[in-house]
Amino acid sequence: MARELDFENLFSMVENIITGVGVFELENEKLTPIYLNEGCFRMLGYPRTEGMKYVKNMLATILVEDRETFWQGIHDILKDDGVVEFEFRTVTAQGALRWLQVRGNLYSREGDRYILVGVIIDATERKNVEAELQEQAERLNILSQSGGELIFDYNAKTDVMTIKANHKRGFYQDIIIEKYMAEFRCSNIYEEDLERYYEVMHGALKSAKRDSLDVRANYMQEDGFIWYRVDLTSMTGIEGYVTRIIGRMTDIHEKKLKELELEIRAEKDSMTKLYNKGATRQLIEQVLAEEETANQIHALMIVDLDNFKQVNDLFGHAKGDEVIQYAAEQMTNTFKRRDIIGRVGGDEFVVFITDISMITNADLLAMRLCKLLDQRVECDGQCVRVTSSIGIAVAPYHGKTYDELFQKADKALYSAKANGKNGYRIFDGVATITYHSSREASYHPDEQSDVRRDLIDKVFQILFEDRNRSSAIRSVLELLAEHYGMQRGYMDSAELERKFPEENLQFSVSGYEIGRETEKSRQDKWNVLKECFEKYGSFAVIHNYDDISDEVRAFMQQRGIRMMILQAVTLEGGYIGSIVLESHNGETEPDKEQLDELRCIFRILNMYALEPNEKEGVRNNIARIEMLDNFDSYAYAVDADTYRFYFLNKKALLSMPNVQIGDLCYKALQGRESPCEDCIMHKLDRKKQHDSISEEYFNYALRVWTRNMASWLECRSEHPICLMNCVDISEYFIG
Ligand code: GH3
Ligand code: MG
Repeated sequence: MARELDFENLFSMVENIITGVGVFELENEKLTPIYLNEGCFRMLGYPRTEGMKYVKNMLATILVEDRETFWQGIHDILKDDGVVEFEFRTVTAQGALRWLQVRGNLYSREGDRYILVGVIIDATERKNVEAELQEQAERLNILSQSGGELIFDYNAKTDVMTIKANHKRGFYQDIIIEKYMAEFRCSNIYEEDLERYYEVMHGALKSAKRDSLDVRANYMQEDGFIWYRVDLTSMTGIEGYVTRIIGRMTDIHEKKLKELELEIRAEKDSMTKLYNKGATRQLIEQVLAEEETANQIHALMIVDLDNFKQVNDLFGHAKGDEVIQYAAEQMTNTFKRRDIIGRVGGDEFVVFITDISMITNADLLAMRLCKLLDQRVECDGQCVRVTSSIGIAVAPYHGKTYDELFQKADKALYSAKANGKNGYRIFDGVATITYHSSREASYHPDEQSDVRRDLIDKVFQILFEDRNRSSAIRSVLELLAEHYGMQRGYMDSAELERKFPEENLQFSVSGYEIGRETEKSRQDKWNVLKECFEKYGSFAVIHNYDDISDEVRAFMQQRGIRMMILQAVTLEGGYIGSIVLESHNGETEPDKEQLDELRCIFRILNMYALEPNEKEGVRNNIARIEMLDNFDSYAYAVDADTYRFYFLNKKALLSMPNVQIGDLCYKALQGRESPCEDCIMHKLDRKKQHDSISEEYFNYALRVWTRNMASWLECRSEHPICLMNCVDISEYFIG
């Protein structure tokens, strides 16, 4: 019967009713709205006057978890068996979550083209009530299992905290506190513990989680505070926001006091409460000996404050102590609980970070730490800037024992200090004794040059667009020679030769071609370069007028070299070859910044060229995503099998401070307990390294609309890694 209705008639009838009415066309699984009445637009929060423009993305606004239900409903309608009802959640233009209930049926069918008509009702209110009932049941359940002395129930919507004493301890009246978080009315908690308590509560309000902490409180005793263990669970309502935090507090006073006494007496540094030297070593050795962490990568960092003596000298020891305490606090706040932080000397600390997944994460953490530890100390109108230098060694590459790692991190620290401080260095396996008219590329927060970015971007473009590895390397050498006015560039190593026996990884400007190398001249070159690396470090600039050994001078003269820039190629700590740029006319003199840039490019080349196995391949690709740090988009890489973050760029890390490498992506981004059925990673073809897909999502963690582009960072290895680049499109989306 309905089929005889004509559209015009239908539209004018339903235009102004509050209930939503929509007519949709479905062809080849593509659902397009043909008509939506005023009610629909109101529900979705889009202005009617702007027409259908906004609704084009309608399907993308449906909650990922509900898309299957949605499509099931649509397919049921196609069976033309009367009215079909289904419900799903969608996000409005303002970012709010709505439950929509659809009653739909088939209007017509012509071949593969179907016309569907649906009545759409906003079911949010009803769902809220249902959810509330469900939540109450859950709460009762949790509370009934609670064995603690105190239970509490915090309502995030009303900001009311209710604290009850468990009857085991006799009856106490409920404590009800309004404006609990808004005014943070926690007078029952000991002052020193307030900050930690606040952080945990705040974290629990952000997303559904379980957490616990120890605090001192005075709920049930007349005088003084006692130690409680607080265990809490936060729960979300249907909109995905946390609505309640419930938990219990258990008296752990006696036990805690004993623990503290032991800690302070035996293991902790009394000023900073960090582990002391002995305990630090012991704990790290313990982790290194554990079987389950044997295959993981850990970083040992030695952090030493720069120019700290000045603070003591100018402002006195007490002020110096404050600076040390502040640094300790920053470190404690930055690293996870399982990481080991110790004070091993006056202004020297060790941070041991377990399971960093890959070496480049050590870079990221050190970079963050450098920023955090940069403090201005002011007193009586005078000001001293205290920064820090960090030396890093990575297990198992640089060593498998505490002593080995410490020794190498210490060398790296020395070189970070020698290079102007306020930076970090990762030990690179080549003896670093002195530096030669250059400094190693250490991180300096204020240094950022656009020119430098351009060149590095070009290098990446060549390396990742050129399918042929050796021609890509040659092109980069050519680019560098041209950019710096050098005449020759080459890269060589035993490893490379094994892989590209046919290829010459060299470039020379016409007139400066490299003649045929004999076995002997190659061996000489190898010896001379090795000597240079041993003397001057893994990156060096050498002029023919420098104070150099006779062998090096003879080598340069023989080849007509006036100046050369060298980079050692290393593999797992060992020297296996070199990258060399030569100036024959002596007209070039790269400045400090250019040398930094070169060092960075050499590192990229180094990683790119050496792909001894697939796992390495993934790691090498990280250089590429490291560049994403500078993009104005949220970028992250996820292990497609384990769903764990492999990398997050700076923008993503800064916008989601609770998300860390190693966390589960669906939990962190969508607050889910299991992977999304509609996961974009599964749509990528695992057989196609260059496959990519783009989709629009509402990102719950960031609460913005993003266009997500998924591609493979690596799909050939055992654990395929997916790279997501998410651009904020909320502005465009909402119009
Ligand atoms: P650099 O930049 O090379 O690291 O030099 P620096 O001035 O930081 O000095 P250095 O690290 O060599 O020495 C650390 C100084 O810290 C030596 C000592 O006077 C001072 N110091 C050691 N322990 C304490 C402490 O507990 N409190 C205070 N206030 N100062 C300390
Ligand atoms: Mg120092």
